[in-house]
Amino acid sequence: MKFSNTYHQLGDKFYQSAMPAQVSKPSLLFWNDTLAEDLCLSTSFCQDKSELAQYFSGNKIIAGAEPVALAYSGHQFGQFNPYMGDGRAHLLGEVTDVNNIQRDIQLKGSGQTPYSRRGDGLCAIGPAIREFIMSEAMFALGVPTSRCLAVVATGETVYRELPKPGAVVTRVAASHIRVGTFQHFAARGDVDSLAALTEYTINRHYPDIDTKADGYILEFIKAVCTKQIDVVVQWMRVGFIHGVMNTDNCAISGETIDFGPCAMLGAYHPGTVYSSIDKNGRYAFANQPNIAQWNMARFAESLIPLIDEDSEQAVKLLEPIILQFAEDFNDAYYTMLAKKLGVPELCLIEKAFIKEFLDILQTQELDYTLTFVQLTESLSDSEQAESLNATLGKWYNKWRDLLQKISIDNATAQSLMREQNPVVIPRNHHVEAILNECETSGDLSSADRFLQVLRSPYKQQIHTSDFQDLPEDGDVNYRTFCGT
Ligand code: AMP
Ligand code: MG
Ligand code: MG
Repeated sequence: MKFSNTYHQLGDKFYQSAMPAQVSKPSLLFWNDTLAEDLCLSTSFCQDKSELAQYFSGNKIIAGAEPVALAYSGHQFGQFNPYMGDGRAHLLGEVTDVNNIQRDIQLKGSGQTPYSRRGDGLCAIGPAIREFIMSEAMFALGVPTSRCLAVVATGETVYRELPKPGAVVTRVAASHIRVGTFQHFAARGDVDSLAALTEYTINRHYPDIDTKADGYILEFIKAVCTKQIDVVVQWMRVGFIHGVMNTDNCAISGETIDFGPCAMLGAYHPGTVYSSIDKNGRYAFANQPNIAQWNMARFAESLIPLIDEDSEQAVKLLEPIILQFAEDFNDAYYTMLAKKLGVPELCLIEKAFIKEFLDILQTQELDYTLTFVQLTESLSDSEQAESLNATLGKWYNKWRDLLQKISIDNATAQSLMREQNPVVIPRNHHVEAILNECETSGDLSSADRFLQVLRSPYKQQIHTSDFQDLPEDGDVNYRTFCGT
């Protein structure tokens, strides 16, 4: 692994040096071979799995890595917290991948840092494996996301509600620069650092923006908005509920990060929320677009000092960008749904007709993923068509008529739909059962089988059907937890 560590060059206001904690019995639970290849990672510095576990628990430091905990702030459930930062993570540095893109390598659950406050800096095995499985599933679904290279059990006990085995997860991300990183410097009135961060971020993630041109900060904000729209529309496509869209969990690269309390939508309901602490449904499934816009408003605000000395003038320039977000999101969202229905362009279908379909899903409590699969198959399966005709009523025939009217033959619609509609997602009850099994028996074989299925989510494979069943209780009592 060859580290470049460019973020470190921004200076010590951006991070604090911190060494990962030593652990007693590191053992490698998961290793992501294909990601290792993408990272051009030769493991020749390790003799065997046990040595890999030494490095990816933080017991040993790979040559060239310079472990640091990053400084950031953030709005947590709408409340600004100026004192956050990596309380249980160590950035080892950046490596260059096969596509010549810099990626961060970060250990998480690797012990306390100067930002830990009262936290223990640790991570239990369940949440570590959840992050591995969920990010791998999202990647295979085609959603921009951070990924996991390894999960190492530490041999230590982590004290949560119950004592749990500890783990360190190695996260790989385009970067860990968040909305909260910008807020950190804006809140401190540190305009020089804000300018340096902006320059660095544009070079790293938005190199097409000309930082010498007038209005480049506005271009930057628009580009970040575009990436946010893209990632959240993809969440809505596959039924992903992030669960904790705080501004510190909103990556400027446009990747999905932080899988703590995330869950998947089962029966369609816009208000679906599983996070135990999200009492008001701030981060409910269908509120994610509003929150993404809210986060972009906080991001734009943090850049005001770089836009105009007269902040009122700056706000006048920013407002239309944030308003445009809602309009652009809406178009991208309905275009995505049109494709899920086999219609290649939004101009060929009425938004109201799409909305009518979602309303039927909601009132009949139909499963989001399964119903799209059934629609897809009904184009070549008359039994399926009859059954949908019974459940969806007139809407179903109107949909078939529409495809005919716009001259999309069944085979074309079906192949488009098969690209958009996964046959399998990481359903909550399966994720929980697998985490439970890994944690209690230490047997990872079903997790491996689950991962194999999730890595080809648009194809029915040999074990796919084992993971497609709906939860018996409709997930009514399902709850997820942050920071465990
Ligand atoms: P998250 O909910 O994972 O986005 O974390 C919010 C903040 O709490 C971040 O600053 C984390 O570093 C910090 N944090 C979460 N869990 C722990 C922990 N066990 N020890 C120390 N800091 C933590
Ligand atoms: Mg976080
Ligand atoms: Mg977290």
